[in-house]
Amino acid sequence: MAVIPYGRQDIRQEDIDAVVEVLQSDFLTQGPAVPRFEQTVADYCGVAHALAVNSATSALHIACLALDLREGDWLWTSPITFVASANCALYCGANVDFVDIDPRTYNMCPVALARKLEQAERVGRLPKIVVPVHLCGQPCDMAAIHDLSRRFGFRIIEDASHAIGGRYKGEPVGNCAYSDITVLSFHPVKIITTAEGGMVLTNNGALADKMALLRSHGITRDAARMTHEPDGPWYYQQIELGFNYRLTDLQAALGVSQMTRLDRYVHRRHELAHRYDGLLSGLPVRLPWSFPDAYSGLHLYVVRLELDSIKTSHAQVFGFLRERGIGVNLHYIPVHLQPYYQRLGFHPGQFPESERYYAEAISLPMYPTLTEAQQDQVVGALHGALQT
Ligand SMILES: *Cc1c(COP(=O)(O)O)cnc(C)c1O
Repeated sequence: MAVIPYGRQDIRQEDIDAVVEVLQSDFLTQGPAVPRFEQTVADYCGVAHALAVNSATSALHIACLALDLREGDWLWTSPITFVASANCALYCGANVDFVDIDPRTYNMCPVALARKLEQAERVGRLPKIVVPVHLCGQPCDMAAIHDLSRRFGFRIIEDASHAIGGRYKGEPVGNCAYSDITVLSFHPVKIITTAEGGMVLTNNGALADKMALLRSHGITRDAARMTHEPDGPWYYQQIELGFNYRLTDLQAALGVSQMTRLDRYVHRRHELAHRYDGLLSGLPVRLPWSFPDAYSGLHLYVVRLELDSIKTSHAQVFGFLRERGIGVNLHYIPVHLQPYYQRLGFHPGQFPESERYYAEAISLPMYPTLTEAQQDQVVGALHGALQT
């Protein structure tokens, strides 16, 4: 039986041709395809600088370093995210804390954030960076978070790994109107793919320069940035401790090709979500709620089981659907419940809205090539699991 996954890439002949063309060219990496991809995404998002890297995890790391996150500093994010949104702080030797979610959007709750900031101010432990995560592709309440950043003096990295193609107050996610840096992911389950890959976006030229160095060993060939005149035409200088976080030209060519279909992908995701909304309306599940200012990228379609109205458990519903070839998933296990984070001192009960969400959430299959027949199969199986 063919499994219907929760997400998957769409690779067309034109994508394959674009990658093969690079394979036959002079540059497999550090060639012209990477800047082309960066310019394509920067133009789409309406942002001044875009730097491609080999994953969103790397993007988060260099974003934190560029904002000078270091030992003794704090980074706050949502517990309902992939672990990478929090791990980036630990890479820099900094501390992590979490802000509970809004029970309607499942994104970081600005009211909870304000309350926690007031408490942190009293004990002198304000965060240096806050990382709002646009869960499922739905933008966070960025205007509210941005207002708080002015009042409490923190920097903002948007984790938009789910959200390219989405809009906030009518403007594209990634324009950094309410943040210092935005991070994108191009993993195959995400909205567009480069196999592995990510990007940092910013309107701040100094941050862009810093991240460009960090992406490639901290090495510059720009004489203006060197400590003395170049020794000769071969010369370069390492002026920071950087990494090899570069994206290849093969991947960038795939990204450029995928970008031509981005709007169609997101539109198709909205069609499928609308259809799910209708087909699931009678079931004992809570459907996704749309934040008024947001047009979601719709990376995920998450329903929450109304456990009081059904006889089966959350795990039994998962088991039932998986046995029938429906590749449902759960995004995410709250980060503070991971063993590694428990060793840092976090414990169950700290973020109750996130833990309630975790007890009820199911990601249903959602990707542009999902057919209506497959979607009917998903809905039929869910009816069976909920015995309706
Ligand atoms: C996928 C994802 C990441 C990490 O992306 P990679 O490109 O796989 O490193 C980070 N944050 C969120 C919210 C994600 O979904």
